[in-house]
Amino acid sequence: MIVTLSETAAILASAQRVVITAHENPDGDAIGSSLGLMHMLRSLGKEACVLLDDDIPAIFSVLPGYDIIRRPDEKEPVEADLLVVLDTSTDRTGCTLAAVKAEHLLNIDHHQTNDNSAEYTYVAPGRAATAEIIYDLTRELPVKLTKDMAVCIYTGLATDSGFFRFSNTTSHTMRAAAEMLDHGVTPNVISEALEQKPYQTVRDIGEAIEMAELFADGHAAGIFLDEATTARMKSTESFIGMIRVIEGVDIAVVMKAKEKELCRVSMRSKGIDVSKIALQFGGGGHTRAAGCTLLMPFEDAKRTICEAISKAIWENK
Ligand code: AMP
Ligand code: MN
Ligand code: MN
Repeated sequence: MIVTLSETAAILASAQRVVITAHENPDGDAIGSSLGLMHMLRSLGKEACVLLDDDIPAIFSVLPGYDIIRRPDEKEPVEADLLVVLDTSTDRTGCTLAAVKAEHLLNIDHHQTNDNSAEYTYVAPGRAATAEIIYDLTRELPVKLTKDMAVCIYTGLATDSGFFRFSNTTSHTMRAAAEMLDHGVTPNVISEALEQKPYQTVRDIGEAIEMAELFADGHAAGIFLDEATTARMKSTESFIGMIRVIEGVDIAVVMKAKEKELCRVSMRSKGIDVSKIALQFGGGGHTRAAGCTLLMPFEDAKRTICEAISKAIWENK
């Protein structure tokens, strides 16, 4: 059931014990919006915790509350009044739904592909980040912004908007960020922490750029990592940004073989709706940033995604 922002605030206000979760492979928005909401609910005197069913990259240790994020455990289910799923539909949350016995389920998201499968769903595709919705909620509830909330919300805003450069950045995004600065955020402290990379990761970026391929007559660029390469490279998040900028490229793709028949795909575009390509394979996302998982061997997955991307490019010419 779709709910409004004020109904979302009312649902949060009426719960006392709240568990917050977000998508697997969590990014700055998943973690930032989760911790931001946790600090906000705690300031209102509620019991709130964050459970994420994945490893949390160490760069996010700059976020207050990073150390208290736990993994859900199906063998020891947690009881709660409300489970809040952030920055995804309810499906990409690992075992969290099974590990939390909650009376109510609320989903807050900014993805246009949200499947509206939760008991209550609030989706705002016009917001650059789920953290921007958490900011909106601070104005609906009797919350006094603290530095902890501001750092978490700012991180979500900044990471999902490419530090306020992507097309999803609005004046509202920047006003929200400005308010976070008024509450103690120092932008360079956060960006420097998030940009930190181990020496080996920088070398891996060099190797990945060497592997980049052009296809669809130069309108698409891809980096395709087989299982051995994926296992060897610890952090691959920055690869897609490196090939997105190639002149003439409309769609960039990075595909990683995680298992023998499981490949994770990330796509970025300069306008063509890549969420439609992702949806064809059960994934989702935004017009200019989307992803999906292909349950096939590396070579088949590579051929399948390249064909789908090429088709989308020719249809848009
Ligand atoms: P990524 O390439 O992983 O940064 O993801 C780009 C966008 O697509 C993000 O907003 C993700 O939440 C979304 N996305 C990525 N993979 C999936 C998936 N398998 N299902 C649904 N949405 C996805
Ligand atoms: Mn996300
Ligand atoms: Mn997001």
